[in-house]
Amino acid sequence: MRATNTKTGWRAAFPPAAERKAARQCDHPGCAHEGEFRAPQARDRLNDYYWFCLGHVREYNAAWNYYAGMSADEIEVEVRHDTTWQRPTWPLGMKGCTRRFTFTVNDPFEVFGTESAEEQRQRVRPLTPEEEAMKVLELVETPTLKGLKARYKELVKRHHPDANNGDKAAEERFKTINQAYNTLKASLIA
Ligand SMILES: [Zn+2]
Repeated sequence: MRATNTKTGWRAAFPPAAERKAARQCDHPGCAHEGEFRAPQARDRLNDYYWFCLGHVREYNAAWNYYAGMSADEIEVEVRHDTTWQRPTWPLGMKGCTRRFTFTVNDPFEVFGTESAEEQRQRVRPLTPEEEAMKVLELVETPTLKGLKARYKELVKRHHPDANNGDKAAEERFKTINQAYNTLKASLIA
């Protein structure tokens, strides 16, 4: 224990618990708020934290790019090591993707009769896993492997749970993106 500075005295060196807790200041330069929220300093130093007030932790998280400087392949390896990825509750559906493709059929002879638009949609063949994956990654045409990796990097950066304050919907979206990426990558390599 450090010797008590005679100028500040015992009380200043060992303030009561309540005061000690309040003493941690936000690490954002010039901010006088209490640093209540912690944020990792860097990807390779996840145990070193900054302490921020709510406003500044949000700002920090939004700007945080966990994957800075990594290639798509490295990101993929990292994600596989992520405990989130290992969870057994992998969503098989298309959670987070509410967009539906609509198909319009040119039918001058009314072959399809009075079939409703909904019936027509259901009759259209279901999407292949690759087409579903393209939907998730918001791609309109089959990408090159390079193009796919670039798109993947962009999306994981935006949807990483750390960049979204651990938001549940973002986490699901993140998983869906990784799944879609792996599906498409496998089909491009095959
Ligand atoms: Zn602050």
